[in-house]
Amino acid sequence: MTDLKKHFAVIGNPIHHSLSPQIHRAFAKETGLHIEYEAILSPLDEFKNTIHKLIAQKLHGTNVTLPFKKEAYELANQHSNHAKIAEAVNTLEFKDDQIIGHNTDGIGLVRDLEQNLNTQLKHKKILLIGAGGAAEGVIYSMLEKKPSELTLTNRTIEKSHVIQNKMDVHAKSFNVNLNVIEIARLPHQYFDLIINATSTSLNNTDLAINHKVFHKSSLAYDMMYGKETSFIKKAQSQDSKTSDGLGMLVEQAAEAFFIWHHIQPTTKSVIESLRSH
Ligand code: NDP
Repeated sequence: MTDLKKHFAVIGNPIHHSLSPQIHRAFAKETGLHIEYEAILSPLDEFKNTIHKLIAQKLHGTNVTLPFKKEAYELANQHSNHAKIAEAVNTLEFKDDQIIGHNTDGIGLVRDLEQNLNTQLKHKKILLIGAGGAAEGVIYSMLEKKPSELTLTNRTIEKSHVIQNKMDVHAKSFNVNLNVIEIARLPHQYFDLIINATSTSLNNTDLAINHKVFHKSSLAYDMMYGKETSFIKKAQSQDSKTSDGLGMLVEQAAEAFFIWHHIQPTTKSVIESLRSH
């Protein structure tokens, strides 16, 4: 009997923690699609082989997570605009012998902020902490929304300068003031939106940041999800609104689902269900 189900996977190392199978299966159920979606652990030096094996097995696409987003970018022979600018890929589409790379992290973050958390970015002052893959992957999507100012900061400040140099042309085209300030020199003034894109919450380390960047009208957003972080606690101590990154995770998955199936799933019930667990 022919298997009519389309097959997908998420690939990472480690991968046991991934919520992607649960999210994509929930989207498929809601939209009436029959899919298989599994989590695959790739050895650290075997990413390319793992992908080629999956293509030979007729998979239609994969999500890509830590630490393979850069390798996925290099492996793809076509790229979406967001993937090209971020030079990182979190969604691969296998179509007509082509490997097409997309990056849906920025779209996921912006949708979570604007649609789920009712926080518009236009004309806002934003502080983005971190200069790793997650930070770099979301900057273009934020610039597109035309905040008045996007300040980058990071423990290793040189990395923020590299990103600034790369993104400056886009910032100018959207008329956004893109600047870099060392963490220790952040002004004693609040930002409308403060995003923690460091892995400090993952490692339970404190992020040494001046509490004056938070305000009761600010939103403090930690990309980490699933635990109460010290970043969130610090923001709450200044009466800021707060959010974790679960909505971003679900929204980036919804965009990947749309790329593969051309159907936009609804996300609210999935976010609520994951949060209640
Ligand atoms: P990377 O390893 O690429 O980057 C880590 C970042 O954290 C760097 O900027 C690093 O600074 C900084 N950092 C690490 N330790 C410290 C410290 N002790 N003090 C200050 N800064 C520190 O990770 P990613 O960018 O891929 O991921 C970052 C976070 O985003 C993770 O928590 C991840 O779970 C989350 N994430 C969430 C997603 C979602 O959908 N919600 C999607 C993707 C990521 P330095 O450059 O100085 O080393």
